[in-house]
Amino acid sequence: MPNVQALYRIWRSRRFDEVVGQDSIIRTLRSQVRSGSIAHAYLFSGPRGVGKTSVAKIFARAINCIAPEDGEPCGRCSACEALVSDSNLDVLEMDAASNNKVDDARDLIERVKYPPAVTRYRVFIIDEAHMLTTPAFNALLKTLEEPPRHAVFILATTEPKKLPDTILSRCQWYAFRRITPRIIVERLEYVARRSAIQYETEAMWIIARASDGGMRDALSLLDVCKSTADGGVVTARLVRDTLGAADPEVLFALADALVDKNARAAFQRMDACLAQGLEPQELAGSLCEHARALALAKICEDDVADILAATAQAASEYKEQAQRASQESLLRMIDLFAAASQTNKWNASPRLMLERAVLRSCIPDDAIRLEELAARVEYLEDKLANLALNPAPVQQEARAVPPPIIHQNAAANNDMQGIVNDTRDAAASDTALAVNPALSPANAESSLDANDLWERTVDIIKRKYTRIYGMVRGGQPQAVNGDELQVYFDNDDKQTSFYSEMLNKGSNRQLVDQALSQAAGRSMRFVPASGKRAPVPPADNAAKLDKVFHTFGREKVDVVPMEKFGNNVNI
Ligand SMILES: [Zn+2]
Repeated sequence: MPNVQALYRIWRSRRFDEVVGQDSIIRTLRSQVRSGSIAHAYLFSGPRGVGKTSVAKIFARAINCIAPEDGEPCGRCSACEALVSDSNLDVLEMDAASNNKVDDARDLIERVKYPPAVTRYRVFIIDEAHMLTTPAFNALLKTLEEPPRHAVFILATTEPKKLPDTILSRCQWYAFRRITPRIIVERLEYVARRSAIQYETEAMWIIARASDGGMRDALSLLDVCKSTADGGVVTARLVRDTLGAADPEVLFALADALVDKNARAAFQRMDACLAQGLEPQELAGSLCEHARALALAKICEDDVADILAATAQAASEYKEQAQRASQESLLRMIDLFAAASQTNKWNASPRLMLERAVLRSCIPDDAIRLEELAARVEYLEDKLANLALNPAPVQQEARAVPPPIIHQNAAANNDMQGIVNDTRDAAASDTALAVNPALSPANAESSLDANDLWERTVDIIKRKYTRIYGMVRGGQPQAVNGDELQVYFDNDDKQTSFYSEMLNKGSNRQLVDQALSQAAGRSMRFVPASGKRAPVPPADNAAKLDKVFHTFGREKVDVVPMEKFGNNVNI
């Protein structure tokens, strides 16, 4: 078989006007070439396969070109000709992932000293720059502090946050974006036409969606499909088979049965899918994606085709099917099928997990609501039982305290900056601590415990706004900042990150704000943030103070406002 060059290599952009999906970056770089104002260090960040290295190479040629044309390398001058070959000595490409030893960095710096052989600038392109070791970074930093006039560094990375601030602050930073499915499809069709590849349009859309914004991945996928098509047509079915994805007609039919709560039909269609050779976990994954598409179609009616990167025809089919399902039921399907799609060694039978998800999806909403109601009653009963066993101290004290002591307590309140020594009214003093205007605002703020506040908010949502209860459950309260409560949603978890996406849409966010404000007793805003699960913050100051009182005895403790100690001391 002849050695065929990969599509993404053949179709790699060699001029700025061939780069797709990064228009504003290209505009700026071209204008720098035109004006000749070149910086010493650039940082190109962004997801894999979106054109960082290609743009770096074009830029390296453009700034060296003797007669650039509107910011583009001319391709004819001696510099352009010298730089065509990858073995030239003036544009050096280094992959930090494989050259992360300090010796290599030293070697690099040695080379930085010498002027370029034939061109104006010697350009160092460092791929995966975040993989450099600390000594390598230090060596690089030294060079960046006093760079020779002829040196230009271009650092490319998928993880700019891993670069030291000292390096970042010396770079001009360009953030490359994911390329939209529509632009990827246009490019794939262009490449296919020019390479005499026959294709179905739907096939290109499936490739674009699967490549998650990366052009290189999209072209590689087209390459794989082209070779299996064996001279024939790249069809939608072929791409799906390559990806191990279920046929949408079959999925739609199965989902039809699920939204109609027809368990019998759902089981038959599921069987048919598995008989075609699809793995239970793959089918569960496809159903999870499908339910997500339906939920989005239900929420964002107008621009659903763009959001789902689907054809107008497919978008209207999603909308039609979504109308027949309740939002709750779609959310439940996402939950169930996401769980069933996860492989782990404890799942004795993936098929059993899939069947369970199919069955539970077919339970009518009313029955589920009853289940939830029963759970809520049980929860309230628990709370009541706890209350009977441990009555709240405030109520007990209020009953025990005779009128004259309330008067004394008021005097103690005025004296909060001094000694709190009224042993008779612990709870009342705590209340005073929370509302006393003499305390600094920072103190009053931190007395709202994020965990406690979120628990109360979720409780209110469970009672009043049931339809979003399923979404808020995955949130991890993080911190109270002024009138905002930050809540983290783990973005490694498909479901949870989807929930935070949904909570940001339409009226959902307002409902959470309302519940939060009610729980806090003042106007507050809910701020969903995605990221890793953050450590749970410590208990609030009032609770800490309680512990101190308990340990040392109340009469032995002085309460002094924090500002007297500066910011280093916490109660
Ligand atoms: Zn040139």
